Amino acid sequence: MTHTPGIAVTGASGRMGQMLIRSILDSDQAQLVGAVERKGHAWIGQDVGTAMGGKALGVTVTDEPLEAFATAQAIIDFTAPEATLEFATLAAQARAVHVIGTTGMSEAQIAALKPAARHAVIVRAGNMSLGVNLLTQLTKRVAAALDDEFDIEIVESHHRHKVDAPSGTALMLGEAAAEGRGVRLEEVADRGRDGITGARQRGHIGFAALRAGDIVGEHDVLFAAPGERIVLRHVATDRAVFARGALRAALWGQGKPPGEYDMLDVLGL
Ligand code: NAP
Repeated sequence: MTHTPGIAVTGASGRMGQMLIRSILDSDQAQLVGAVERKGHAWIGQDVGTAMGGKALGVTVTDEPLEAFATAQAIIDFTAPEATLEFATLAAQARAVHVIGTTGMSEAQIAALKPAARHAVIVRAGNMSLGVNLLTQLTKRVAAALDDEFDIEIVESHHRHKVDAPSGTALMLGEAAAEGRGVRLEEVADRGRDGITGARQRGHIGFAALRAGDIVGEHDVLFAAPGERIVLRHVATDRAVFARGALRAALWGQGKPPGEYDMLDVLGL
């Protein structure tokens, strides 16, 4: 094993995949050892650096994840829920840290990660940035300090290609608000309103999603009562913040006991 952990990136051609590869190349604490794409993808068999439009990196894009994972100490995975479940099993077989940035996973899919987490470290977070993880803690605190005279609404904006809503980050913030209030999010969440919905129910936590242009990710947590409002806001202007967080998680996970962790563990928040 080398001193700098080897990292394999899944969904290598994706927006986050390419950003992750750049972050790993920029880091002197890790090295890129694998790049995975799905069967039939145009990049399979090409050097990943060349495919990205730069110089060759000596890493060939493969559609055989286990082959790419075999020499890796960590897998960084920002793909799609079904793919992430498959990668979790293979990462556990390889005893590699599996950093999961994929969002839109159902409760059943999240539960299905458990067997893998018995054998390897999984770090999963709907948002890997320091700012958002700090914001979840602030949201919890503010929600705990205010009673349900304050309506809580979470408004998120993302680029036009995003496929899931509300965003994983919005759900993290919703969970934090519910926890602060001592309620279960499933019981109070209003996930999208349309038509004659009736008046807002006291104590509910509302979600609204905007999809437009190239917005990287913006989240507002609004606490509104008659006469005053508090807005907690995070704006991501560069996907590199997620990639750097994911890389930090991959390094943090080295040597940790198997189990499921999140970014609060990684950041010590
Ligand atoms: P994207 O550009 O669509 O990239 C997804 C990549 O995964 C693509 O290369 C895609 O390949 C690949 N992929 C999908 N299914 C696959 C499969 N079955 N096997 C292998 N590869 C597969 O999306 P993105 O913007 O990078 O986002 C990816 C995920 O990360 C989303 O869930 C997003 O919400 C999440 N995200 C999380 C954070 C965070 O901090 N946690 C931050 C940003 C984004 P094809 O092109 O062939 O489909």
